[in-house]
Amino acid sequence: MPVSKLILWDIDGTLIHCGSDGRKALNRTFLELYKIEDAFGSSDIGGSMDYMILDSIMRSHGIAKDRLPAIILHYQRVLEDILNNNKEKRVLPGVRTILEAVRRSGSAENALLTSNIRVGAMTKLDSVGLGHYFKFGGFGDEPGEKWDAANACILEAEELYDTVFFKDQIYLIGDSVYDMLCAKKIGIMSVAVGTGWADEESLLACDPDYYFPDLGDTDRVIEAIRL
Ligand SMILES: [Mg+2]
Repeated sequence: MPVSKLILWDIDGTLIHCGSDGRKALNRTFLELYKIEDAFGSSDIGGSMDYMILDSIMRSHGIAKDRLPAIILHYQRVLEDILNNNKEKRVLPGVRTILEAVRRSGSAENALLTSNIRVGAMTKLDSVGLGHYFKFGGFGDEPGEKWDAANACILEAEELYDTVFFKDQIYLIGDSVYDMLCAKKIGIMSVAVGTGWADEESLLACDPDYYFPDLGDTDRVIEAIRL
């Protein structure tokens, strides 16, 4: 059966909760490598794509751009260590069932759409056994916003499956206002979920196609994405 539908998943607050481990790992990386305290707090951007945050920290501390690969490698090791010791991290309700249903459908595919850099995203997902559900996605490794990563991800999927996805066959499931803005901006379907930091009112104000307090009622979510 040809793949005719894409389900784009945000990570933090949508698939999983791991507290602020990403931010902690970023801070520990810059502390260990450059003795910089609270690097994240010193960046002038919050809640943005990881590349933009890393770039802002590096520029404000005069760190050469060619150090980025070494910084990312260190970040991955630190993040793994922090996640290993986080007993509170968890997969959110309904997520495994829906991921499995999409995979088994044969006509739809799961993909990631996250502000995390790729190694950060995969490290988080592997720490809770979800990494194997995702072959590709849009990540925070490049300059730009989430909709740029989404467009790149959709193109990649179209090449991979040798098809063109209609916009109403692409769903973004996310917990933030940024996710909803992203879906609207590129004209794809939006599913808001209230398991992150955004309150219901702010998510509903974005006029998502669907809103769920959590994804635990898997039958209704699966019906919404018309699997
Ligand atoms: Mg999120």
